[in-house]
Amino acid sequence: MYILYLDESGTHSEASYFVLAGLAVFEREIHWFSQDLDALQREYFPAENEPVFFHARTLRVPDTTGLPAPLNQLNRERLREIKDKIYDILRKRGAVLFGCAVEKNYAEVRREDPYEWAFEDLISRFDLFLRRINRLAVEESREEQRGLVVLAESNYKKTISLLAQRLKQSGTRWRSIRNVTDIPLFAPARDSRMLQYADFCANAIYGRYHGGLTGDFDKIAPKFDREGGAVHGLSHLSNDSSCVCLACLGRQGRQQGLSI
Ligand SMILES: [Zn+2]
Repeated sequence: MYILYLDESGTHSEASYFVLAGLAVFEREIHWFSQDLDALQREYFPAENEPVFFHARTLRVPDTTGLPAPLNQLNRERLREIKDKIYDILRKRGAVLFGCAVEKNYAEVRREDPYEWAFEDLISRFDLFLRRINRLAVEESREEQRGLVVLAESNYKKTISLLAQRLKQSGTRWRSIRNVTDIPLFAPARDSRMLQYADFCANAIYGRYHGGLTGDFDKIAPKFDREGGAVHGLSHLSNDSSCVCLACLGRQGRQQGLSI
């Protein structure tokens, strides 16, 4: 079983982009990801017995005085260190990343809801990823894998639940869904180490597309789902038809039948 954990970024009104993103992990990897965050907590907050909620935006704040305990025990530099180490874990561990960045203007012109569009896009990409995994599994006489999607709880829960039912029954606008069985489960990000990682993925992509900040994005860029040189795990839905970002270059290459 592969589980895709997703969180969103850019829901506030002044954001030019909405991002839904996260990581797909094979079930056995979850333990190791959780252990890594627990170890980070022991290193920076040795006296803390309850799980500390790591949230990307919190670790970036310029002024730490308003932060909740125990984060307010550390200065800005130490908080940045934690953030950097979380991106190091994402780069090092065996996860496959998926993300969709929707320019809000672009969605508005097309009368699309950014969250629903991004969700449908990612479900389709995750299903295609599983098809590739399973094609290989059949060739090598191994067991086929199914997919499960877990989303951070938000105001969109009801809408997304309804959309998910429709996608399961009728497929996405592009194709039928074969391998994603349970979509979606909702969990509070605070209670799930894996959803906290998903938040860091979404935040890095949001920073890249909304603010042109490439540092964290570049760290995780090699982890987006890809086959050969073609990037399948990242999509950029935008008015800019000449964009040469990782996602748009990959799409242009596929449309031209090139392997890039
Ligand atoms: Zn682009």
